[in-house]
Amino acid sequence: MGERRVDYLLIGGGLASANCARWLREAGGDGEILLVGRELDPPYNRPDCSKGYLRGEESREEPLFRPPQWWGEQNIELLTRTSVTGLDLQARSARLSNKQEVFFEHALIATGANVRRLNVDGCELEHIYYLRTLGNADAIREGVADAEEIVLIGGSYIACEVAASLTMMGKRCTLLMQEQYTLERGFGARVGRFFHGLLEAHGVSIHGRDELERFEGHERVAKVITRAGLELPAQAVVVGAGVTPDIGLAQRAGLEIGARGGVRCSSRLESSTPGIYAAGDICEYESIVHGGASVRIEHWDVAFNHGRTAAMNMLGHDVGHEDVPYFFSVLGDWGELEYVGPAYEWDEEIERGSIEQGAFTNWYLKDGVLRACLSFGRSGELDHARRLIAAGEPLDDGARGALRDPAADLGAVAP
Ligand SMILES: Cc1cc2nc3c(=O)[nH]c(=O)nc-3n(C[C@H](O)[C@H](O)[C@H](O)COP(=O)(O)OP(=O)(O)OC[C@H]3O[C@@H](n4cnc5c(N)ncnc54)[C@H](O)[C@@H]3O)c2cc1C
Repeated sequence: MGERRVDYLLIGGGLASANCARWLREAGGDGEILLVGRELDPPYNRPDCSKGYLRGEESREEPLFRPPQWWGEQNIELLTRTSVTGLDLQARSARLSNKQEVFFEHALIATGANVRRLNVDGCELEHIYYLRTLGNADAIREGVADAEEIVLIGGSYIACEVAASLTMMGKRCTLLMQEQYTLERGFGARVGRFFHGLLEAHGVSIHGRDELERFEGHERVAKVITRAGLELPAQAVVVGAGVTPDIGLAQRAGLEIGARGGVRCSSRLESSTPGIYAAGDICEYESIVHGGASVRIEHWDVAFNHGRTAAMNMLGHDVGHEDVPYFFSVLGDWGELEYVGPAYEWDEEIERGSIEQGAFTNWYLKDGVLRACLSFGRSGELDHARRLIAAGEPLDDGARGALRDPAADLGAVAP
C-alpha cells in the first residue's frame, strides 16, 4: 500500500483518541482525520469491561463511544485492527501495520496502557485472566461459567469491581492482596476499611497483607498458593495488578518520557515535539490544577477531557488543561464511589456524614489545602471540592469545620 497525507492522525483506538476526533469536528475542524486503533472494536468505554458488560447485562454495542455509523457521518476515517508500528517525527510520518505510510500535520498519541502480568510458577495455566478489553471480558464470562470459586489478585478497583460483578453472578470470590484494606493505596486506610467491609458484607473473602506465591493445577488452574502459605481453591483467577503506560511507540520515536513514566507534555498536552500531542493513560502533563506539578492519571474522565484539550490545541486555540481529574468506581449494585483529585499525599482527612452509616464525603488536605475528595452517596459535594482544589488555597479552621458539618453550606466556604 502506498503513501497518503492527513491533517490529523490519531494513534490509538481508545477514548482519548475518540473524543479528540469528536472535538476536532465539533470545534469546527474540517481537515482530514484518520484514527488508527489495533483493537477489533471501534472506540468504546473501557469501564464497562468490569461492570455491566462483564456480567452479560450489556450488548457489545452499548459500551461504544458512538454508534458505528457516526464515524462516517462525521467524515472521520476509522481504521480498526491496525497498529501504528513506527513514527518519524522529522518527516512527520507514521508507518502502519497495513504497510501504509501516512504523512500528517498534527498527531495525537494515545496508546493507553497494558496490564502488568505476573510471572510466577503456574502462570501459564488455563483460566488465569487479565482484563483490559471487551474481548478479555468475554473470555472471563465464558471461563467462569463452570467455576464455583474464583480468586481475584489485587486490592485496587479492578479486582474489587470484578469481585462484585462475579459475586452478583453467583460465584464465590476470594480476593488476595498486599494491602491490609482494599483501595487503601489511593484513598487511605479508613476509607479502604469501609470498602473492604462492604465487599465482605456481600460475601467476598479477603486476605490482605499477603501475596501470590504461585498457581497450581493440571492444565487448568486449581489453587492459588500465597506467600503466607494459604492454599486458595480456584477454578478461575482474575488478576488486577495494575497497568503500565504503553509508551513503546513514543519512546522509539524519540519523544521525551517523564519521571512518572508517561510522554512528557506541557499543560497544553503538547509533547517535546511541536504539533505532536499525547492524551489519556500515557500522557504525563504539567497540571494547572496541581500547581504545575507533573501528573499522569489513568482515569476514564481524564482520557475523555484530554481528547478535547488536545483537539482544541491542534485547532490553534492555545488552551491549558484545567479540569480537576474525576474518577468513579462501581461495585455492582452495592454502591459507587466518586473521587476528584488525586492526592498523592495528604496529612489530614476530614469526614463529612458518616462512614459507619455508609453515606460520606472524605476530604484530603495537605498543609491545609484541599487536594482530593471522595464521595460515597453524596455526589452533590464534588463540585465544591473541584472549586476548592482548583483554588489551591489553605482553608482556615472555620472552612474546615464546614467541610465536617453536613448541615453547613459548602457554597459559602472560601475561597
Ligand atoms: C476493566 C477496566 C475498568 C475501568 N474502569 C474505570 C472506572 O470505573 N473509572 C475510571 O475512571 N477509569 C476506569 N478504567 C480506566 C480507563 O478506562 C482508562 O483510563 C481509559 O480507558 C484510558 O483511555 P486511553 O484512550 O488513554 O487508553 P486506552 O483505553 O487503553 O486506549 C488505547 C488504545 O490504543 C490502542 N493502541 C495501543 N498502541 C497502538 C498502536 N501502536 N497503534 C494503534 N493502536 C494502538 C490500544 O490497543 C487501545 O485500544 C478502567 C479500565 C479498565 C481496563
